[in-house]
Amino acid sequence: MDFIYINQNVLDNLFYILVSIFVFFVLIDNFKTLKNYQKTFITACMSLPSILCMKFPIYIDEYCIHDLRQIPFLIGILYGGWPVGAALLIISLAIRFFIYGFNSLTLIVYIVIFILTALFSKKFSMFNRKNKLIFSVLLSLCLGILTTSIAVTISDSFRVTEAYMFYFIFLPPVVMFFVVYIIEILGDAISIKSKIAKLEKMEVVSQLAASISHEVRNPLTVVKGFIDLLKAPNLSQEVREQYFQHVVRELKSAETIISDYLAYAKPATEDIGIILIDREIRSIIEMTKPLANMNSVKISEELVPGITRGNIQHFKQCFLNLIKNSIEAMPNGGDLSLVTLVSKFDIIIEISDNGVGMSKEQINRFGEPYYSTKEKGTGLGSMVVVKTIETMNGKIKINSVLNKGTTIRITLPIYTS
Ligand code: ADP
Ligand code: MG
Repeated sequence: MDFIYINQNVLDNLFYILVSIFVFFVLIDNFKTLKNYQKTFITACMSLPSILCMKFPIYIDEYCIHDLRQIPFLIGILYGGWPVGAALLIISLAIRFFIYGFNSLTLIVYIVIFILTALFSKKFSMFNRKNKLIFSVLLSLCLGILTTSIAVTISDSFRVTEAYMFYFIFLPPVVMFFVVYIIEILGDAISIKSKIAKLEKMEVVSQLAASISHEVRNPLTVVKGFIDLLKAPNLSQEVREQYFQHVVRELKSAETIISDYLAYAKPATEDIGIILIDREIRSIIEMTKPLANMNSVKISEELVPGITRGNIQHFKQCFLNLIKNSIEAMPNGGDLSLVTLVSKFDIIIEISDNGVGMSKEQINRFGEPYYSTKEKGTGLGSMVVVKTIETMNGKIKINSVLNKGTTIRITLPIYTS
């Protein structure tokens, strides 16, 4: 087999396929709403290279047009299922017949490829990467051999030349291997990003659990004490009433701590909604009070009402991480203040501590995953902060002096209905 076969036309075909895959991932990574139209989007991204491959084929002989259009076709069916396959089948056949005229052999070959691939597409989605690679290579090899046999059987004049062997039997499995490999790697890169954010949350959830169980025990001990007191025989109705009120108050406080914690710990949805900034920040302060108490940190707040738009759970996680960082920056206690200011278009939220402060390097690397100066740090909290504020079209500014303290100022757009 000669390398003369890898000519400009083959490279052009490869280029169309690879570019459409990159475009697919760039768009899906940056426009989350496209996920809701994934099937349509795959169809669009795979029909484009099919059409270009057909329009600029590797070569044309009197029986068939040789190009790599079966690669996007197979990829579309395997990753999008039979509906995408059916759409691609109709689109590519229509264009094929429009450009080069009707050919019954092409019709049969493409229907066979469609049916056989669609049969496996459900199974394919459950394979791991290695099996996906093996399967797609074998599939395209078998389909190449099968469709060639069909062509030879149906048409007497169909000739299997050396070039045909190369382009139709040998090349597609090789290309399939690389294409599936690239798709898997890009897909992983996108899903790992969201997994890191979840990991960070689990870390925070487990750290908070320790301080919260401690904080819940206190009210429970008080409740137990009052119930013991209530057992006394000669209590006046008035005192009894008072004890009851204490019991109810303590139980309420334990309940708030637990329900805030659970609201935070539950899996995040992707919903975008209205966020009442002051209310949400207050609830986070309530939740972090146990942790602050344990570190002798006093939290003060001056919050004016302000509304923005975004995902409430991500917002809470973001501010929880900021408050946690501030508390951790004051190992010997200190003051943490949260202040909000409202201007015409923006709402400014300032979180200040008088803790250890940050060096220039620490400020520059804020938001970089896995960068932490703490022994048990994950270095993911600030990444979640930066990501969240970015998605909400906000800005972050850090002012910090070593051994004096840090002020982090967050500006978010105000929501006006
Ligand atoms: P972690 O808290 O797990 O270390 P983060 O991503 O939350 O990771 O923070 C990264 C680093 O930024 C911290 O290790 C710390 O050095 C620095 N940092 C963040 N916030 C503060 C703060 N308020 N005061 C001092 N240093 C801070
Ligand atoms: Mg942190």
